[in-house]
Parts: sequence; structure tokens; C-alpha cells
Amino acid sequence: MSSKNQVRTRFAPSPTGYLHIGGLRTALYAYLIAKQASGQFVLRLEDTDLERYVAGAAEAIYSGLKWAGLHYDEGPDIGGPYAPYVQSQRLDTYKKYANELVAKGHAYYCFCDKKTLEEMRQEQVAKKQAPKYDRLCFSLSQEKIDVKLKAGEPHVVRMKIPAGRVIEVNDLVRGKVSYKSEELDDQVLLKSDGYPTYHLAVVVDDHLMKISHVTRTEEWLPSTPKHILLYEYFGWQIPQFAHFPLILNPDKTKMSKRTGDVAMGNYIKKGYLPEAMINYLAFLGWNPGTAKEIYSMEELLKEFSLERVHKAGAIFNIEKLNWYNGHYIKQMPLDKLTGMCIPYLPDPVSHPERSEGSKIKKIVALEQERLQVLSEIGEHTAFFFALPPFDKALLKWKEMNDEEIKKSLDMAKDIITNTPDSEFTKEKLSETLLAEAAKMPNKGYLLWPLRVALSGQKNSPPPFDIAEILGKEESLERIKTAVYSIG
Ligand code: GLU
Repeated sequence: MSSKNQVRTRFAPSPTGYLHIGGLRTALYAYLIAKQASGQFVLRLEDTDLERYVAGAAEAIYSGLKWAGLHYDEGPDIGGPYAPYVQSQRLDTYKKYANELVAKGHAYYCFCDKKTLEEMRQEQVAKKQAPKYDRLCFSLSQEKIDVKLKAGEPHVVRMKIPAGRVIEVNDLVRGKVSYKSEELDDQVLLKSDGYPTYHLAVVVDDHLMKISHVTRTEEWLPSTPKHILLYEYFGWQIPQFAHFPLILNPDKTKMSKRTGDVAMGNYIKKGYLPEAMINYLAFLGWNPGTAKEIYSMEELLKEFSLERVHKAGAIFNIEKLNWYNGHYIKQMPLDKLTGMCIPYLPDPVSHPERSEGSKIKKIVALEQERLQVLSEIGEHTAFFFALPPFDKALLKWKEMNDEEIKKSLDMAKDIITNTPDSEFTKEKLSETLLAEAAKMPNKGYLLWPLRVALSGQKNSPPPFDIAEILGKEESLERIKTAVYSIG
């Protein structure tokens, strides 16, 4: 492929908040489009809104993308042929292009102050008209403009929307979408502080950075006709556009910082795996059209296509994300999973027994099947480190009375006592305990009180597994405590 039609996509977040779920999905699709065509994926920071800048947001974007495996080829922290990739460092460029549009008659200076604009707006609202700049400054004579500029009067640059045009957006997801130029406002391109607005900056940068496919969420679709006009004014080639569906809450409202947990950092902290997140997000707006649900990044690179991206909003479903996460946890080699679980377990200082690596590994192995989010392991396995207080009623299986419970626990105690240290394994314990339990009307009579005595929980892994991990001494200690609690 010649460099002229090389596929280049970009992810262009504003560092006005941390990287969020929707941003990562947008980045993923852009990454897939570029990489499946052996193209480049670019990261650009759109930080022209000074008031909404959030410190640390840029770093969270870099680390979040890297965590997810969306390695960008060019970006603010790694540079590239079209650097800088931070809009606030490109102000002269935007100014130059804004001036070019003014010189060509496609844009004009506007000196209206806030008060004038507000009065204009109120008047239009009163007349039931859509609020729009009424072109007051468009009719200023060149002399007047020169005087005002010379006097340093604050001003913006506005684009001139042509009358009577129909602007067509040929969107790769949404098809052909038409806009009448009458619906468009004379958009501010350059603000009075010398900063560009999003509209000017995005067009200039996408052109200069040779972006072939402009991909973003649907909320930007109504801005696209303005961008198309700007490309025309500059005489630049119009890129391809693809607008992805919005991500919605289960109640179909737009998912935002206010309505849900959208910050990627929180998901990373809770112990979601990048493979699971990528797999889940790929499906949040796309479907391969088959029943296959598990996709690695390599498989996504093969199968993803814009034709199968949906138009309708995608509903965020945490249970499904958890299911994916559980799936990838199950697949993980035990050593790797153990390492990843360690930060979520009680700290080794207050629990010296934790220093035994093999014990931790056994605990993780026991949980691997049912764990969905890594951080849950702390709660699920806390009883291994300290027996929680529990109601003695929990020791009771079916109709057992206190005497029977005590007898059952005594029997278990004897079996455990008589199991030599060298054979203190779950296999051996299950063999001996089950043989004894088989003599009873139901094996619960032996196993239930023992399991509760060892774990203090209504639900837990089988008593053999717990006993092996606790060790003989601690198991006997817990049985004693249970017997004592019965009185
Ligand atoms: N800076 C815009 C945002 O925060 C980017 C929109 C676009 O990709 O053009 O989403």
C-alpha cells in the first residue's frame, strides 16, 4: 500500500477527565481499523478547553491505553513525525489556518461581546427561532475591522456557513446523513484567547497528521458537516468518517461520569484483566454475527469490521463484563494468577502465614473457578487468614441437635488427629472423611458441621480443601472453638 492511502486512525481524547470505558472502546475500534490494515494508530490530546483540564488525566490516558494493549505508534509521550500531539502546543498552526480562512472569505472576525450574544440569543428564543449567530459582524467594513483589530478589541474568528447547501456525511457506520446548511451556526473557530475550538483544531490536525479514518462516537456526528465544509474551504481531501454508537446505562440513558462507574482506573484497580476488558468492549457496539464470544486481540484484528458496527446505542452490562473476566481468570496459569491476586490478599505483616507461597497458591487455585473480579479474592478467602465470628446455628445440618453436632465434630476431630502430617492432603482427608460419612444417613451429618467449623461460612469450598490449606493444627483449633461455642 502506498503511503498515500495508508490507513491512519487516531484517538483524540480531551484530558478533561480520566480515561473512561467509552473512550477505551473508541480507541479499540480505531486501533483495530488501523492495525488490520497495517496502518498507524495515533494518540492526540485535545486540550483546548483550559477550564476543563484535569491534572493527571493525560497520564491516565497513556497508562490506560498501554494497559489495554492499545499501543499507539505516535503520541504526546512518544513523539512521531507530526509532533507535537498536544493541541495546546500547536496554537500557532491553528491561528495560521484561521487567518487563511479569513483571507479566503470563508471566515470572519466577530467582536460581539458576551452581553450582545446573550441578548441575541434571548431575542431568538422569544421568537421561537433556533439560537444562532446573526452575522452582525459579517457586515463590518474592512476599515472598521482594521480599527478594532488595531485597538486590540477582543474578537473571535467565525466560519461562514454557506446558504442553501446540503452537506452529506458518508459515514461508514451510519450511511449517508444529510444536513442543511441553514441548520448550522457560524461556528467560532478561534476563541478570543487565541485557542482554537475543537472544530478548527480537529480538522487541521486530522489533515496535517494524515488521518485517513476519523472515528469517534455518534455525539460528534452533527459537528461533521461543519468539518466537511472546513475541508472544502481549505481544499483538503475529506477523510472517511465512522461514528460509533453511544454507550448506554441499562436504563438507556447515556453513560457518563455522573451516571455510572466509567473510569477505567477503577476497573483496573478492582482487578479486571485487559484481555477481558478488550473482549467485552469489542462487543459493545459490534458483533461478529456468529455465536462466538471469546476473541483475543489477534482474532479481533482478523474479524472486526466497520460493516458490523451497530447503529443503536450499546448497553453496558457489568454482569457480562464480569463473565468475560471470570473466563479469562479461569484460563490463566496459576502462577500468574497468584501473582496478580497477591495485592488483594491480607497483608503479610499481620498474617505471617501468608509468607508461605504454596499456601497462597492453593488458596488461589481453590478460587480460580469462581472468581470473577480479582479484588473479590480478599473477601472470598478472608476466612483462611482469620476465622470470622459466626452464629453457632450455622453448624447445624438438617434436624441435628447440639449433641449430634458435637458428636459429628468430635468424629471429624479424631479423623484429622489420626491423619499423619505427611499425609495431610485434601485427597487423603476426603478419602477418610467420606468413608466415615458414608456410614451416616447423609454425608452432610459429618461434612457440614466440619466445613462450617473450618470456614465460619455458609458457602465455602469443601472441608478437605480448607483443612489441607489451614493445616492440621489450625484445623483442630477451629474444631475445638466450634465445639466450645455449642457449650
Ligand atoms: N476531543 C474529542 C473528545 O473528547 C474528540 C472527538 C473526535 O474524535 O473528533 O471526544
